[in-house]
Amino acid sequence: MTSPITLRVLAQLILFCSIAFSVNTTASPAISSLPLQSRGAVNTTSLHACAALSLSSSASSLVVTPFTFFDLADQHYMITSSQVSTCTVQPATAQDLAATLKTIAAKRAKFAVVAGGHTGNQGFSSTDGVLISLEKFNEISLDKNTQQVTYGAGVTWDTVYNTLEGTGYNVVGGRVAGVGVGGYHTGGGGYSWLSNQFGLAADNLISVDMVLPNGTLATASESNNADLFWAIRGGGNRFGIVYSFTVKAHPQPAQVYGGYRIAIGDANVQKVISATAKFAANNTASAAQIITTLNSELGIPRAIVLAYYPGTSAPAGSLDAFDGISWLIDGWKVQTFSSLVSSIPSNLQKGQRGGFESFAVKTLSVPMLQYIAKTVATLGKSHSATLTSIEVEPFASTLPGMAKSAAWDHSSNAWPQAIYFAWTSSADDVYWRKQLVDLGKTLTAMAQAEGQDLSDAYLYPNYAGAGTALSAMYPPENLARLKTLRAEIDPQNVMGLTTWFDF
Ligand SMILES: Cc1cc2nc3c(=O)[nH]c(=O)nc-3n(C[C@H](O)[C@H](O)[C@H](O)COP(=O)(O)OP(=O)(O)OC[C@H]3O[C@@H](n4cnc5c(N)ncnc54)[C@H](O)[C@@H]3O)c2cc1C
Repeated sequence: MTSPITLRVLAQLILFCSIAFSVNTTASPAISSLPLQSRGAVNTTSLHACAALSLSSSASSLVVTPFTFFDLADQHYMITSSQVSTCTVQPATAQDLAATLKTIAAKRAKFAVVAGGHTGNQGFSSTDGVLISLEKFNEISLDKNTQQVTYGAGVTWDTVYNTLEGTGYNVVGGRVAGVGVGGYHTGGGGYSWLSNQFGLAADNLISVDMVLPNGTLATASESNNADLFWAIRGGGNRFGIVYSFTVKAHPQPAQVYGGYRIAIGDANVQKVISATAKFAANNTASAAQIITTLNSELGIPRAIVLAYYPGTSAPAGSLDAFDGISWLIDGWKVQTFSSLVSSIPSNLQKGQRGGFESFAVKTLSVPMLQYIAKTVATLGKSHSATLTSIEVEPFASTLPGMAKSAAWDHSSNAWPQAIYFAWTSSADDVYWRKQLVDLGKTLTAMAQAEGQDLSDAYLYPNYAGAGTALSAMYPPENLARLKTLRAEIDPQNVMGLTTWFDF
């Protein structure tokens, strides 16, 4: 087997050859429309930063170029969120992560930070400059005495659940496999199968260990660097890079109920719509949860219903709303939490051009759900669409009562909803971005026309498209505080060398 050291030397050699033979002193061309790995010239600043990083990092960390062995295809859920970096740094220690950020700051090199790669926005965790991959921060540990779980920022939720399986404990995290803990937490998240019981992951976060923009190490919690702790729960990558999260552990039954069900055809989709509206209206207090996805794949109308209940059968008046529907696949069953999450085939939709948008609602009416089903069916037949999908997620009224103050305000009784479209042709990118944005606005207007007061509903940054206005995501007082904190914590605007919603 090739050792990491050999790969490191190889990477350095290739990097220096790149510097010698392919430097272009102008900025690199936009590569978003080029096939992956077809980039020509690269930027001098990025190359010099990569060369410095490859010499300075310790043996346990890696600096690799895309022309060596880094698996680009596997990096992001949507290929439109990927770019070919000049080099990718995989720091293995907090000190190497700090040194990496210091080098990037000194060179003023463009960079990005990637954890699970599930953002729908290009540039948020990809770059043609220096990519910092957190994948080597992959430790997961449970302390039963303190009832706390600590995990590295590079792990995905399914690996956390697999590790906790059989311990009798669980954490509030993502609902399908593959989602990274890094973006999920820092983007204000997140919504979990455990949210009706324990709130959002942000409400269960105890502390974080991170590298500040100036390259120093810091710990933040309610009692230590409290402003920073507030800011990283919804402030994205604007305040530094978190490498470790410590969260509350909750007792978890060995067996739970749920999984996924799929129905196809108009008649069945209508039944799912009625059941979803009924569940949303009636399931105000129970721990049962669903996500109904109304979508059209290759023009076929379809409904997918994901469900969870922390016991072997859900109480009457909750999931039984979905009885009597003719399912093409019925995967609701008694199983472990980890197998429930892994059973949901979300990765089947991975690897396509795509994008997210969001809207918020306080109730899910039948007319709105019917409009959604009709719209995704129509759009599903146009412009190289492979999937047009809207996820509706009703939560119990217990949720706002558990909300703690955080940069992303989730204290209202609004529910974040996700629009996800996927397509094949790069020529259709502009068309689909417009459809996503327009549909988000239409559904918001529809909810308001139904009488829903959305004045305290803020769009969830983790579902929001890159062009979303800051005022749509943050209350004015949170935005003002974020701006002040950012100026204090990052006066050199180091994190401005990467991309996220900017304040
Ligand atoms: C299939 C799918 C399922 C999803 N399910 C859920 C769900 O159940 N609940 C929910 O709330 N959301 C869900 N989401 C949304 C998800 O929370 C966001 O996409 C989130 O950003 C993913 O995090 P990531 O680490 O995978 O993404 P990445 O693309 O790696 O990162 C996203 C952003 O966070 C930044 N970032 C990542 N790690 C760090 C860090 N350690 N320090 C500082 N900045 C960091 C990156 O720089 C980037 O800007 C889902 C998304 C998809 C595509």
